Amino acid sequence: MGARGEMRAEIIAVGTELLLGQIVNTNAQYISTKLAEIGIDVMFHSVVGDNRERLVSVVKTAQKRSDIVIFTGGLGPTKDDLTKETIASCIGKILMENEEAMGKIESYFVRRGIPMTENNRRQAQVIENCQVLPNDVGMAPGMAVHAEGVHYILLPGPPKELNPMFDHYAIPYLLSLISDHQVVFSKVLRFFGIGESALEELLMDMIDNQSNPTIAPLAKESEVTIRLTAKAKTVDEANRLIEGVESVIKERAGQFIYGYNDDSLHSVVVETLRNRGLTLSLAESCTGGLISRMITAVPGASSIYPGGLITYSDKVKTNLLGVTEATISQHGAISRETALEMAQNARQLLNTDLGMSITGVAGPESVEGKPVGLVYIGLSSAGGDQVFEVKLTGPREMIQIRAAKYALFYLRQAVIN
Ligand code: ATP
Ligand code: MG
Repeated sequence: MGARGEMRAEIIAVGTELLLGQIVNTNAQYISTKLAEIGIDVMFHSVVGDNRERLVSVVKTAQKRSDIVIFTGGLGPTKDDLTKETIASCIGKILMENEEAMGKIESYFVRRGIPMTENNRRQAQVIENCQVLPNDVGMAPGMAVHAEGVHYILLPGPPKELNPMFDHYAIPYLLSLISDHQVVFSKVLRFFGIGESALEELLMDMIDNQSNPTIAPLAKESEVTIRLTAKAKTVDEANRLIEGVESVIKERAGQFIYGYNDDSLHSVVVETLRNRGLTLSLAESCTGGLISRMITAVPGASSIYPGGLITYSDKVKTNLLGVTEATISQHGAISRETALEMAQNARQLLNTDLGMSITGVAGPESVEGKPVGLVYIGLSSAGGDQVFEVKLTGPREMIQIRAAKYALFYLRQAVIN
């Protein structure tokens, strides 16, 4: 056993298709996720073909380094399904027919009205002295067996059979092995408007001295997340550990946190507006409808968003949206003044509580002598109007995505403040 009496597990996926790249080892991912939730550390993943000798060699290695060895695949009736025979011989046990499994197989063939072949009979065989893990959706039973300090768990390959068997029968078996069973609980904090390194600097001492919960920052898609993961006896206790660290992070960088776990900027905006009973209209130029697309991706967005306009050219900005020609000729289409009129006019035209606009240079060429990445976001409401200026970098698509996210971020901030 590992440090502090913890169980060390490893997963061995059996199947030549995996080695050929025909299928992906999603079973290992599934099992690993579930083991993490109950605090069992997974130390190795292996994949081995449907080959007795190589399977024996992998089992021998596993026996020396793990307390729990979990196999997936090769429990079926065909010749290449050799997992249980091989494991049985590795641990000096024999296979015996299991009555319950046999009954299930026989009745299947009776129901279908087809003769049962000898290899189907093999499916009802299990390792002697094992605990049978019932297969509620298929025929091959799973097994849990203990030998010389190691627990072996054998599971079928098809995920639709493995997943319920693992959840309903393997997990309880594993929980009974761990006396001081722990839960692992994690929470993701989502940041926008601050870079990964700036955020790390704010939290440097915490990151350096982390233990429980662990603090893992990650930058992705112009956003930064921090995953807090706590181990404890109960979910409540894990939650308390996370809350302690979270409150310190909030003191230092709370203004950049916009959501948690699976939240997105657009889902949070829709939820915030809905909670406050506010409606929004949009006038988009450089994002070409992207913000509208993001908002309408959220189910129920229609309650806050009646619609918007894509006003890409100067002409459409004046003709459709009513931005004055003078504003555009004096300040340019990419200006505070134009952004402001766009937002005001969208709000008026569509008769919404809020009007938001966006105009900028997505690149790769500069426009009106204005640099690539310069973006103005206008926001108009009964309480007053604002324009935000942002300077972005990156290729065209990245600038558009980041501009849209900034617009949503400012919108949310304006509404909650
Ligand atoms: P069967 O009774 O269907 O033969 P089995 O327990 O013998 O099941 P395998 O023959 O190894 O399992 O695999 C059957 C199918 O299960 C594969 O064709 C594949 O679709 C799926 N499968 C097997 N192993 C994995 C894995 N590690 N990850 C995801 N899917 C898998
Ligand atoms: Mg098979």
